Amino acid sequence: MKIHNPATGAVIADVEIDSSAAVRRKAQQARAAQAGWAATPLKRRLAAIAAFRERVVALRETLARTLTEEVGKPIRQSRNELDGLLARIDFFLKESPRTLRQETVLADVDNNMEERISHEPLGVIANISAWNYPYFVGSNVFVPALIAGNAVLYKPSEYATLTGLHIAQMMREAGVPEDVFVPVVGDGLTGAALLRQHVDGVFFTGSYATGQRIAASAGRRMIRMQLELGGKDPVYVCEDVDVDAAAAGLADGAFYNNGQSCCAVERIYVADAIYGRFVDAFVREVQRFRLGDPMDESTYLGPLTRKAQLAVLRRQVAQARKLGGRVLTGGKAIDGRGHWFEPTVVADAHHGMDLMREESFGPVIGLQRASSDDEAVALMNDSAYGLTAGVYTKAEKRAKRILERVEAGSVYWNCCDRVSPRLPWSGVKHSGIGLTLSTYGIRTFTRTKAWHLRGA
Ligand code: NAD
Repeated sequence: MKIHNPATGAVIADVEIDSSAAVRRKAQQARAAQAGWAATPLKRRLAAIAAFRERVVALRETLARTLTEEVGKPIRQSRNELDGLLARIDFFLKESPRTLRQETVLADVDNNMEERISHEPLGVIANISAWNYPYFVGSNVFVPALIAGNAVLYKPSEYATLTGLHIAQMMREAGVPEDVFVPVVGDGLTGAALLRQHVDGVFFTGSYATGQRIAASAGRRMIRMQLELGGKDPVYVCEDVDVDAAAAGLADGAFYNNGQSCCAVERIYVADAIYGRFVDAFVREVQRFRLGDPMDESTYLGPLTRKAQLAVLRRQVAQARKLGGRVLTGGKAIDGRGHWFEPTVVADAHHGMDLMREESFGPVIGLQRASSDDEAVALMNDSAYGLTAGVYTKAEKRAKRILERVEAGSVYWNCCDRVSPRLPWSGVKHSGIGLTLSTYGIRTFTRTKAWHLRGA
């Protein structure tokens, strides 16, 4: 499989794909190794993950450069992702012992009865991952899964393969047995081969379309399944905000990582009274973004990782123009090597446009007027997705009233595009099933066992 640099189109590596037979062998080896790993004292498993963290610190610059080269993420944003990874690992290292400990829920001395709950590893899990934040979305799964005693068959996205191989190398160097954390290299066909193996859980991050296939396969087999899928994340800007500050925060929330974040702001509803002023301020912010070589320290916007997304963006913008949208900046792909699209703002958007309904996953955003809080809530909920949603206002009670009515896994008041290791990360509707992060996202890699113990 040839690995391309999306900024230039150049081939930067050629890696061997795992055949179906190789995937089967890896799954069998992981099965054989898992019990030994589960029997390894938790302290030693935690020490291995702490050693993995040290490898990330030691190799930070190399890892950042590889990530930038293969996915096109601007170098400073690659470093940010690695720094964020450390904070997530720290959370898991700190919280896992307490979260995985057996609980005694009844100690009835008079009747000589004790009740306990234990948290046991699922066994061997498949982790099929995405490319847009490979360190984040990968580690949300494999770090707590390994700590909990599972073996992990980790399939990085075909667009983040070199990063996936770095992760596997660092795990080995950290003392995680090579049959316990196993990289599986390839594209969707390899992912499908992995799904055919005897696994005890499937943890997937990616698109709704692939998620449906994964669900169909896992559903028949009654194994644990988690799907972290796409979003069409809305924000409502009320009339009482500081317009310039809100525009700056939201432009960053929409365009960071070139809009290729599951929780990127994808549509903005603006109160009538400030619509014109907000649109002007927002466009000014977007026009300030520096687009260029992702290796350059001053670059904010790099190329799109996947060429196929250019066609999606072109189609969304063309349709929006036809249906009355005003393209105020950008609007087209940039000719030349690699895959580039101008940062694009469409005003006067509406829900007749795919731009406001289908995930753009790129540097394109629609802005629409809202004449009341009720209308804004209705528009935010008028979506197949439900990953995140936000509101900008000075009024706390008003914000909470709005956010209570919004159908989303995460809600934001005066902030956006934010993930915290302490909070569960989940979606509703087509945004997914299950969750990662928080202490719930540690327990999700276990099955509970109920102990009824009567002394002799
Ligand atoms: P994708 O669905 O194209 O691919 C995801 C993974 O699935 C890749 O590893 C791919 O090789 C594999 N795959 C493809 N077909 C398969 C099949 N038939 N069987 C098994 N595996 C298969 O998604 P992507 O382009 O890598 O990621 C972008 C999407 O991910 C966006 O929709 C984004 O919103 C979503 N995402 C969601 C979250 C979240 O936390 N909810 C986080 C990051 C990305």
